[in-house]
Amino acid sequence: MDPTFKTIIEPFRVKTVEQIKFTTPAYREQALREAGYNLFLLHAEDVLIDLLTDSGTGAMSARQWGMMMIGDESYAGSRSFYRLEAVVKEITGFKHVIPTHQGRAAERILFSTAVQAGQVVPNNTHFDTTRANIEYTHAEARDLVIPEGRQPGVIHPFKGNMDLDALRQTIEEVGAERIPMIMLTLTNNSGGGQPVSMANIRAVSEIAHANGIPLIIDACRFAENSWFIKIREEGYADKTPLAIAQEIFSYADGCTMSAKKDGLANIGGFLALNDDDLAQQCRNLLILTEGFPTYGGLAGYDMEAIAQGLREVLDEDYLRYRIRSTEYLAEALTAEGVPIVQPPGGHAVYIDARAMLPQIPSSQYPAQALAVELYREGGIRPVEIGSMMFGRPREDGTEEPAALELVRLTIPRRVYTQSHIDYVIEVIARVNARREDIRGYRIVWQAPFLRHFTARLEPL
Ligand SMILES: *Cc1c(COP(=O)(O)O)cnc(C)c1O
Repeated sequence: MDPTFKTIIEPFRVKTVEQIKFTTPAYREQALREAGYNLFLLHAEDVLIDLLTDSGTGAMSARQWGMMMIGDESYAGSRSFYRLEAVVKEITGFKHVIPTHQGRAAERILFSTAVQAGQVVPNNTHFDTTRANIEYTHAEARDLVIPEGRQPGVIHPFKGNMDLDALRQTIEEVGAERIPMIMLTLTNNSGGGQPVSMANIRAVSEIAHANGIPLIIDACRFAENSWFIKIREEGYADKTPLAIAQEIFSYADGCTMSAKKDGLANIGGFLALNDDDLAQQCRNLLILTEGFPTYGGLAGYDMEAIAQGLREVLDEDYLRYRIRSTEYLAEALTAEGVPIVQPPGGHAVYIDARAMLPQIPSSQYPAQALAVELYREGGIRPVEIGSMMFGRPREDGTEEPAALELVRLTIPRRVYTQSHIDYVIEVIARVNARREDIRGYRIVWQAPFLRHFTARLEPL
């Protein structure tokens, strides 16, 4: 792509199309009522533009579909495994590659093998499945992102960076022998998809290794993080995304990966490690719950799709388009006066619902109210990341609100075009124009945990 052109186009043409359904306002009103105003309970078919998640929702390329046809479904020693292994080794340099059905399986296998009760695992910010799998072993998951990473309005090029002083203090306080690993999540998903700089990765690696602690990378969006390093960090402008990714992994001892993100696949993941003994123990557990070490719960064709996806995701034209399209949405919303988390991350734009709807208190779920309005206005499905997801009941029956009330617009990879995004911008602008009339909700039914998936609400 010639970077002197202002318009950054989708670096692909469309070969297969999937129809999306237009609905009337009356139809959407009925669908909302039936779903208890919970967008997770909508039928996906009734959604025009689905921005719920970027996980497993990407479009595969013609090459990926082609490779799937030559997938080797042998139980043991599948050619497709060796192809995946070779690509992962080329990118990460890690000695052992263990396929899993998705990222959380890699996490569970690693933590049940390497983490013991009472230990502490520091991370910039643990993704929720990572945290849950660590806590399941009765260890503590500790978030040590830099203070800028917790403030939605503050602009910083690498808001996903680890707070190095806090890391040193944690090691001193806890003791290196009680820290089985240090993790870095690239990009920092729970912190808004914010990148981590190479300097920070290198510094975390030095601190870890000086204390005899391995560094494990949660690599779900490693390619997007590599691109941010290329365009924002001095000394990397002329390096390829592959060379940057290789440098990132060279500082670490292993990684967990969800291929549903930067694997450009609809399912899959892997665990990669340098330590021979640890890898052997992980493989033993893999056989127990996932499958033989050359398929780990995946079909041969899944491994082909991931192997090919991992090559395509490091393509410069793809990454330029990917990061620019997220930024394009963010710029347009800012121009419309819609408050968002700044700067936008790689895979999503987050609207600050507390700032946009100050008339709705947290106890009436402003981010949920805004998410519902986007569906009502234009059939768009974002996801609430606020008090409906993270609010905690207090003893007096009231609720401890979430720190932030956000609505995440998550962009699936290679799925929507610029005109889809222009439509999203127009819908949000219309909702913004009538923001003062938007009212809150109350929960009428909820499950004892992870309530946001199934709760039913009523408008106030
Ligand atoms: C998605 C994700 C995971 C978990 O992967 P799954 O494939 O959903 O199990 C772990 N860490 C991060 C940062 C993620 O985004």
